[in-house]
Amino acid sequence: MRILLTIFIAVFFLFSCSQKQGADLLIYNATIYTVDSLFSTGEAMTVKDGKITAIGKLADLEKKFEVKEKIDAADKFIYPGFIDAHAHFVAYGSGLQTADLVGTISWEDILRRLSDFAKGLPKDQWLIGRGWDQNDWDKKDFPTNDQINTLFPDRPVMLERIDGHAAIVNQKALDAAGVKAGYSLAGGEIEQKNGKLTGILIDNAIGLVSSKIPAPTKEHFGTALKDAEKNCFAAGLTTIDDCGLNFEDVERIKSMQANGELKMRLYVMLSDEKANYDYLKKNGVIKTDRLNVRGFKVYGDGALGSRGACLLEPYNDKPGHSGFLLSKPAHFDSVANWISQEGFQMCTHAIGDSGNRTVLNIYAKYLKGKNDRRWRIEHAQVVNPNDFSLFAENSIIPSVQPTHATSDMYWAGDRLGSERVKGAYAYKKLLTQNGWIPLGTDFPVEDISPIKTFYAAVVRKDAKGWPVDGYQMENALSREEALRGMTIWAAKSNFEEREKGSLEVGKFADFIIVDKDIMKASDNELLQITVLQTYLGGEKVFERR
Ligand SMILES: [Zn+2]
Repeated sequence: MRILLTIFIAVFFLFSCSQKQGADLLIYNATIYTVDSLFSTGEAMTVKDGKITAIGKLADLEKKFEVKEKIDAADKFIYPGFIDAHAHFVAYGSGLQTADLVGTISWEDILRRLSDFAKGLPKDQWLIGRGWDQNDWDKKDFPTNDQINTLFPDRPVMLERIDGHAAIVNQKALDAAGVKAGYSLAGGEIEQKNGKLTGILIDNAIGLVSSKIPAPTKEHFGTALKDAEKNCFAAGLTTIDDCGLNFEDVERIKSMQANGELKMRLYVMLSDEKANYDYLKKNGVIKTDRLNVRGFKVYGDGALGSRGACLLEPYNDKPGHSGFLLSKPAHFDSVANWISQEGFQMCTHAIGDSGNRTVLNIYAKYLKGKNDRRWRIEHAQVVNPNDFSLFAENSIIPSVQPTHATSDMYWAGDRLGSERVKGAYAYKKLLTQNGWIPLGTDFPVEDISPIKTFYAAVVRKDAKGWPVDGYQMENALSREEALRGMTIWAAKSNFEEREKGSLEVGKFADFIIVDKDIMKASDNELLQITVLQTYLGGEKVFERR
């Protein structure tokens, strides 16, 4: 009997050993915020073939798994990789190859930077810069192009404003585009003073010149994206929504991802152009582990900074001017009709309260009440109090960028007046419409850092702690809401919540290790929080040294 028992025990152990499951990775000694529905935490996690296989206590996981590699997280904090629900990844990458004018303090400052930057450029190559914001200067008027005409008589120069809704170009660039004094167009403005072009172009007018910029070569495109990816991994981003690309860009991205040159997961909205509609109609939704193309980015109106956002009543600081829609409502209507029939996703840029109302009503016409189409309004920045409920009634997703609130708060009240501004950057009120809200940055309009998004959403102050009590705090998000907005809710806005956005068994092992607990650090500490490591599909893609 005793012998029999011994054999039984031996067989049992043999059996149970062989029952141990294999795992590629075990991360332990961490506080893991899973961001699951219960907002639960764990101390260890295993990964196999790029996906999470278990989360729980180290002792339990060690019993269960035969592990190839163990990582001691040294008491640090783990979150799902951040998802930026609204950004411009390709534009950011190409921006890295152009003159950076973000943070310039005057027009003279810009001229200095341009002269330096031009030294490294071939003689006749376009000089492209972006990121200026005259609101940051002592002299807050738009500049004129006299000095860039003198400095650069032989090469075209185009300098985009931070929001991409205004640009200043030199004479050579105007000549290249054939733009002359007296020329006008719908949805845009070519500024003139005393019958002379100033070089300032607003909204649709920018395209007259930008369309003349030679397309980047395949090599330049590749370099731009790889540089962008590197910075994004370092910021803790593992998925980015690129809002508004052409199908040629999608094809290039697809091939870079297929041959391993590009690892970043991208959700791409195609721009509102016929060739793009034809492309998706022919191909259907494109969905791989790293690429998701199912939606279109439509441009409703301009931006508040350049007074291109379409308002119901005139601007508080420009009487008689209410901004404008970038296309006729009939265009948005026909696009919405087509997209609803084809079953794709519609994502429309709307900033002004009139822009938002127009888009909300057109969406409502085709969505007809509650639904799961997840049509998005990008920015949803100024919403009339009577229109908030349209989001809930038609399950329309407001896709917002909290750092816009803290970048614009210095002058948003001037543009809108004290009453109307209350319906601006109203993230909490928008969140309550559907019970969830995706967050993004709109980089390169804003910095790529998701930590800054979190801080802006929760604290609603600038980096210097202004205003002391926070900006319109009734619309601040809780820390949990902000974290969900940057992870699981962003995934949901892309129809990707089953594969990413939280750390749960079966999902991609996209996660970051961070030095402090963003759920518990003091407000003042938040901006110092640093991403130490980033993993995408269980592969370490960034480590801070
Ligand atoms: Zn954008």
